[in-house]
Amino acid sequence: MGETLKKICTKCLVEKSSNDFYSKGNRLDSICKECKRSNRKAKYVSKKQCDEFNSLTAFFEIIFDSEIEELKRLNQNCDRILRSHQQKEAA
Ligand SMILES: [Zn+2]
Repeated sequence: MGETLKKICTKCLVEKSSNDFYSKGNRLDSICKECKRSNRKAKYVSKKQCDEFNSLTAFFEIIFDSEIEELKRLNQNCDRILRSHQQKEAA
């Protein structure tokens, strides 16, 4: 029987075949190709958002209280991304 190796992606938690994961030597990556791609995209967008956040916050702090809430939400996203970057660098 042509048994296909199955693995659960640690990010989307979906069981996929080994073809859906990149391999490192003879070991498979812990997240699937799809998540890896969307990860990269998310990081790119978030970095951009962080830059915008940094330049906009000082401005909005003075003018619109309502905008601050939106920016705070954006900042939570930035914090999460930065933390994941730091964890990677520390590893
Ligand atoms: Zn996945």
